[in-house]
Amino acid sequence: MKEEARAFLEELLNTPAPTGMEMDAQRLWAAYMKPFTDEQNCDAYGSAWAVLKSKQPNAPTLMLDAHADEIGFSIRYIDDNGFARIERLGGSDVAIARGRRLCFFGSDGEVYGVIGNTAIHIRDDKGQAPNLWDLYVDFGCDSREEVEALGLRVGDRGIYCDGPLMLNNGKRLVCRALDDRLCGFITAETARALHEQGIEPAWNIVFANTVQEEVGCIGAQMLTYRIQPDAAICLDVTHGTDSPGLNKGRYGDVRLGKGGVLCFGPACHPNLNARLELVARESGVPMQRETSGRTTGTNTDQIFRSRCGVPATNLSMPLRYMHSPVETADMGDVQACIDLLVAFIRSLKPEDDFRHKL
Ligand SMILES: [Zn+2]
Repeated sequence: MKEEARAFLEELLNTPAPTGMEMDAQRLWAAYMKPFTDEQNCDAYGSAWAVLKSKQPNAPTLMLDAHADEIGFSIRYIDDNGFARIERLGGSDVAIARGRRLCFFGSDGEVYGVIGNTAIHIRDDKGQAPNLWDLYVDFGCDSREEVEALGLRVGDRGIYCDGPLMLNNGKRLVCRALDDRLCGFITAETARALHEQGIEPAWNIVFANTVQEEVGCIGAQMLTYRIQPDAAICLDVTHGTDSPGLNKGRYGDVRLGKGGVLCFGPACHPNLNARLELVARESGVPMQRETSGRTTGTNTDQIFRSRCGVPATNLSMPLRYMHSPVETADMGDVQACIDLLVAFIRSLKPEDDFRHKL
């Protein structure tokens, strides 16, 4: 991977984007897309997109979607002694929250705090997870007034401080928010690869970086309605099941280092999946399979049922420890996803139509 790409990935991961507060990360992503695409834009709530226009007349449109937001917390209540109680933004895991460092974003900028962890010697909880409302953030203050003087109020958002860390000489990447910043990186690098290889796609390609996925796939709903794509691939993360203690009979067999994971289920269009499988086979890019019996739990669920229905599918990065500060992914899988998307886009012809027909 090029040094410029690595630096962008690091900057993207170091840019906070708790749900509803994605604009810093969106501006960064859109600026990176500028040399590789014809236009960049964002909607009222901040979903960003960049368009690579086809030179073909009346070309259909493919949307590649990743979500920009990450899970976090917001301040619910600040007590008289200066401790803050918190609300979850998306699926933050209270079981691992105690004893962690947080960065909140107040009116005067960043404010650090820690989630208090009563010492094991004097704690009386028999090891079970705390209630959300029992967690509290210590900003180093002795009163509500002192917290407010730091620029914090009810509703201000925060995330874990944990930035990127490479394991095993760059083989594996650890960070908070790899869900789904890693896929925003993949769409960006796909645009760069198309640009550098001089590929002129037969379809218009809309690279979407949508907001508010973690609270119900909302940005993707708004943006799909606007873009009206003819096909869409949603890029998100899925549970790697190759760490200890996971039952493959229950959760399937998804491994780090074996490529992206294509989802098979009612939401994922069989014609689109068939093409992706063909392209993977012909180009020698590794790809895994998973199944979802109903919808997928990703933006695909909002994309495929937009308007009259959009042939869509879900291509996921295998990820260990999802929704924790140590989310772990394989850098080989990142490259495999980029290679697959480039090969898929190369395969598109103006007359391709993934819809069912009688
Ligand atoms: Zn996600």
